[in-house]
Amino acid sequence: MDGAVEMVDTDSAIDWKAMAEKVTPDARPLVHGQRIDVGGGTFDLLSPRDGSLLSAVPACGEAEVNDAVAYARAEQRLGDWPRRSPRGRGEVLAAWADAIEAERVELALLISLETGKPIRDAVGIDLRGVVRAVRWYAALADKLHGDHPDVGGDDVALVSREPVGVVGILTPWNFPLALLGYDVAPALMLGNSVVVKPSEQAPLSVLRCCELAVQAGLPRDALSVVPGLGRVAGQAIGRHPDIDSVAVTGSAATGRAVIRASGESNGKRVWPELGGKSAAVVFKDVRDIGEAARAVAWGAYFNQGEMCTGCSRLLVEREVYAEFMDALGTEIDKLRVGDPLDWETSVGALTTEHQLRDAQLATEEAVAGGGRVLRGGESVAAVAGGRYFAPTLLADAPESSRVFTEEVFAPVAAARPFDDVDEALRVAFSSGYGMGVSVWTSSMDTAFRVTRAVKAGIAWVNCFEGDDLTVPVGGVGRSGYGRTKGTAVLDKYSDVKTTWVRLGDR
Ligand code: NAD
Repeated sequence: MDGAVEMVDTDSAIDWKAMAEKVTPDARPLVHGQRIDVGGGTFDLLSPRDGSLLSAVPACGEAEVNDAVAYARAEQRLGDWPRRSPRGRGEVLAAWADAIEAERVELALLISLETGKPIRDAVGIDLRGVVRAVRWYAALADKLHGDHPDVGGDDVALVSREPVGVVGILTPWNFPLALLGYDVAPALMLGNSVVVKPSEQAPLSVLRCCELAVQAGLPRDALSVVPGLGRVAGQAIGRHPDIDSVAVTGSAATGRAVIRASGESNGKRVWPELGGKSAAVVFKDVRDIGEAARAVAWGAYFNQGEMCTGCSRLLVEREVYAEFMDALGTEIDKLRVGDPLDWETSVGALTTEHQLRDAQLATEEAVAGGGRVLRGGESVAAVAGGRYFAPTLLADAPESSRVFTEEVFAPVAAARPFDDVDEALRVAFSSGYGMGVSVWTSSMDTAFRVTRAVKAGIAWVNCFEGDDLTVPVGGVGRSGYGRTKGTAVLDKYSDVKTTWVRLGDR
């Protein structure tokens, strides 16, 4: 996620709480271009903001997934989407981006209510992210071309890209629309049909956003959304014999479950984009401690720490450890935990009850092992009925403690001092996650020593979360191997075909 927030000036003047009172979300699945009523059960979607009921969400099962996949396959066999010119597909995506932008206020409100994230970030990060992603892939649509290698003699070789067919996309809740855009836009741009299973915690914004695509001119069977539970609807997608490719963005355990489901069904390709435990490594020759502290505070606490690339594991060279921790504490003091619908709030509610409990538990475990709480460490009663945890900074957390080795997915960061590069490298990558690392030094030698040694998908030097649609994002090891953004996604959603022609005598 790009840290810079740009918004329309008037957004800060909107009475978001008054709007929230009137919101009537539609949680019904989107199949065959319409919202459909389904039998079976529902599950309650409660807002992390205050525990209020947002909607009873239909829990789709195998039947609804089968229907959505059958329509998606029919579009591939008989429909016009895979056969439409790339420019034509790009025009539809561009119209979708315009429609999302026109409804950005309503969509941002849904995101904030579903996830508990500050409305300012829902507008400035999620909405901006999805609009930019859809526009970027819309513009790319007619700029891709195959290859025509010279193979000599009387032979002609053509290498072309074709849609894989039916794509399943399992989305998480932490950036419901930005992450939707990073996968759905390129999959559609390449001519595939897509079936989305949104997170249990954030189905409303995804449903409405995808409905806008159909309203903007996308053929009705090119995109369906089936809300439901991961172990039911998600598994039905993982196991479906007629889905060709699945992108799953979620926890490491979920990624493995989907890979298993693929192996036990049709061996569809699975693209796991999973969790992380990224480290920030601050050397004593850091060029500006204040600058590093600001970036690390953002990396650890932005989006309540609910970010796969978040840097919640801090390694600081002993000579500057105390000074860096002071500077970080100063940055934390500037954060404002509060009602997500207050424009000035910078840390909103935690999305799930489990995270709130785990943030507390993991903090207590670290303290029991000798860690010191420098800031936070407890829940906050920001809004009655809501789930809020203070931005927490732990010093000297044991190397083996969960705050140091596992994704807590809450605003909890842990720090340890180190004495040399080898020690920093050993500790920084002991968790098996390989999402990112952020290195702070004025020595290019040190920077490259670290970035060349690490097994991670992204290495930042003297910055955190430098980001652009042109560069791929993803991890290695426990963080999966799927990629989003840029042209790296093309391999997820297209097959390369070779056509070889031997010319005969005239
Ligand atoms: P999650 O793993 O609980 O769920 C992700 C999606 O998978 C949801 O739609 C869920 O319903 C579905 N699912 C869950 N169990 C399933 C199963 N057994 N079979 C099939 N589908 C199943 O993740 P979450 O809590 O929604 O999101 C947070 C996680 O996502 C964190 O671990 C975070 O690091 C990760 N994440 C990774 C990236 C990335 O790009 N690598 C980006 C954002 C979030």
